[in-house]
Amino acid sequence: MLVDQLIMPTDRRSAGRLSAVTSIDGYKDAYVAAGAGGSTHVPIVAADPAGSSARALLLLGRGSDPDSERGVDCPGELPAASDPNLVERARAAKQALGDRVFILGHHYQRDEVIQFADVTGDSFKLARDAAARPDADYIVFCGVHFMAESADILTGENQRVLLPDLAAGCSMADMARDFQVLDCWDALTDAGIAEQTVPVTYMNSSAAIKAFTGEHGGLVCTSSNAERALRWAFDQVPDGPDGSGQGVSGQGVSGQGKVLFLPDQHLGRNTAVRELGLSLDDCVVYNPFKPNGGLTVEELRRARMILWRGHCSVHGRFTAEQVAKVRERVPGVQVLVHPECTYEVVSAADLVGSTEYIIRTIEAAPAGSAWAIGTELNLVRRLAEAHPDKVITFLESTVCYCATMNRIDLPHLVHTLESLVRGEVVNQIIVEPTVARHARLALDRMLALPELPPVTAPTT
Ligand code: SF4
Repeated sequence: MLVDQLIMPTDRRSAGRLSAVTSIDGYKDAYVAAGAGGSTHVPIVAADPAGSSARALLLLGRGSDPDSERGVDCPGELPAASDPNLVERARAAKQALGDRVFILGHHYQRDEVIQFADVTGDSFKLARDAAARPDADYIVFCGVHFMAESADILTGENQRVLLPDLAAGCSMADMARDFQVLDCWDALTDAGIAEQTVPVTYMNSSAAIKAFTGEHGGLVCTSSNAERALRWAFDQVPDGPDGSGQGVSGQGVSGQGKVLFLPDQHLGRNTAVRELGLSLDDCVVYNPFKPNGGLTVEELRRARMILWRGHCSVHGRFTAEQVAKVRERVPGVQVLVHPECTYEVVSAADLVGSTEYIIRTIEAAPAGSAWAIGTELNLVRRLAEAHPDKVITFLESTVCYCATMNRIDLPHLVHTLESLVRGEVVNQIIVEPTVARHARLALDRMLALPELPPVTAPTT
């Protein structure tokens, strides 16, 4: 069975609705009766073999979970992948739409898709690019679900944002659900530390998590501006009492304020320890599947960084051993990795930075230099093709492409564009207005951070 997604059953807004489910049918009935998100799709469900909890499995292309990044269901007939005219069809449809359509291509997209992108970039750059094109009726986002949500939030009401395949979610974004984060906030409140905690969420999170962050005085960050975002967050913490009845100096990184960092523990830890000078002991990991996050009240009170237990399923696969091996294999190699990699990997690497930083570094590198890059394979392969005068290798040959990014393929793009030519809008991403308003708050706080200098390459 091709399993697409998992749904955990403990949504606090429908507490207990799934807890007694032991059979597939029982679970399905409970889910539908609860009217989850008003979905008309019915999830296919399986019981956990351990019997302790039931999990709903959404089959690829069937069903949806509107409360998360989990897509899906593309109406209409997709062109066959074997159709030899797909490139020509995409070109013709794009030409017919003219300036009414603006196609965004994330750096991790396939070549067959990226060739049709009007602009390429990381998630934040693309959202800004979309906002800078108010004349385009349709924004076709070749990326994943949270990116299209951000574009919908940042673009005008007259513009429509389309995701060619609604199944293109992000496993990292799925690791933080809104009800789980609300439970976490309750735990912080019970520990008496919510007042001195500012939430910061990575761009790679659902609109609901961005909205939570905006509502609770926090902001969004990217891998390029995480340090500035964290400094801003620590600066927001007011002086006041802590949960132990002691006084708290909240101001700044050297104060006693706290950050709840969502959903990527690695970006949070790497930034706090390597760039802000906090220690590993200042960081704790909140596990949403354990009571109180698996932490004692004392651990929560002592922590400065409360890291959500989420990670990128692509970057999380790189290891420090792979770094050691590539150094043996390629003489003089420099290891360049993304900050979504683990602390051990970034500590073993020579350079660490965002996707844009990685691109600029390779562009500026001297001919003949050797690089092992730890990020998504589509980007590394394109960099190697664009720079044949340099030795560019993937940090680890067994790490694969981002599976969800790669769901956007030429048939889906052709289907989306040709539907628009016929006047049919398919796979539109619409963020609910209240969620959008609060998420916008968190995005605007990020946009108001001091301007970053242009991404420059290091001198090596
Ligand atoms: S590379 Fe990682 S963070 Fe990016 S979309 Fe894929 S799973 Fe999500």
